[in-house]
Amino acid sequence: AKTTGRDMACFYSMETDLRGQARQTMEQQLRRAIERGELSVHYQPRVGARSAQLLGVEALLRWNSALLGSVPPSEFIPIAEETGLIRSLGAWVLEQACAQWMRWQDSTVAGGALMGVGLSVNLSAVQLADPSLAADIRAVLERTGMPEQHLELEITESQLMESAPSVADQVVALKLLGVQLSIDDFGTGYSSLAYLKRFDIDRLKIDKSFVHDMLDDPADLAITRAIISLGHSLGLKVVAEGVENRATAQMLSALACEELQGFYFSRPLPVPELERWAHAYLGS
Ligand code: C2E
Ligand code: CA
Ligand code: CA
Ligand code: CA
Repeated sequence: AKTTGRDMACFYSMETDLRGQARQTMEQQLRRAIERGELSVHYQPRVGARSAQLLGVEALLRWNSALLGSVPPSEFIPIAEETGLIRSLGAWVLEQACAQWMRWQDSTVAGGALMGVGLSVNLSAVQLADPSLAADIRAVLERTGMPEQHLELEITESQLMESAPSVADQVVALKLLGVQLSIDDFGTGYSSLAYLKRFDIDRLKIDKSFVHDMLDDPADLAITRAIISLGHSLGLKVVAEGVENRATAQMLSALACEELQGFYFSRPLPVPELERWAHAYLGS
């Protein structure tokens, strides 16, 4: 039994070691990803539930590593956050997305289908803790010419709930830039609803875990309905993410959710494909 115990301990530490090595490799590769040109930004459309208008696009980071292949954000974003690399990655995404948005303000690009749409960019809690965030964002807006009212920053509910007073100051500083703010993954974090009133939020994004099963699971439907009604009574727009089929889109529209995002409309796409999609959507 003694031997087994020792073997087990050895096995576990080897496993931990391997995992540590894989992590370290990923971190090393991620450090060089920007300069090696391995990163790109994909864009997912957000459309009006009733109007079927293209309202905006969400920028989502993609990493195609020469060594590791395509790595999903669910794997590299947490590492980027733990190592602080998310600061430079986040700044890179914002700059790329704003510069891209400016190119869309040309009526000959995609038949003008992307002119004036909203541009959503995700912010990490690590970025939110950086006191120079608002100034950095302002610098990107000035450098690219991106008009602030078309930029929307997505912050998750749990980030906003972090009691650090600096978070509250940061949110105020961001709003002073004139950008819009959304709460991402709404319904999954701790909810003290008071913060919805305290912060000047523009949109709630219902988490896709509720939207996904809302037609089959009465609890998910009830939660979705409650979030829509809460949002509306506070004067906020409500977006459903993770809309994968027509029946869900119709139900959300019947519940007066005004904005929809999900694979049913489009997956996140590289620029040329998004432009084709937007052009076709405009014409349909
Ligand atoms: P998120 O901000 O909630 O982004 C939405 C995620 O849902 C995206 O995954 C998108 O591809 C996926 N999605 C969209 N529609 C559907 C649908 O109908 N069904 C399903 N099952 N999924 C759908 P993605 O691109 O893998 O990103 C995952 C997460 O990684 C994002 O979640 C966000 O938290 C983070 N992330 C991605 N890009 C960035 C970035 O530039 N900065 C930061 N801080 N985080 C990012
Ligand atoms: Ca998001
Ligand atoms: Ca989300
Ligand atoms: Ca979720």
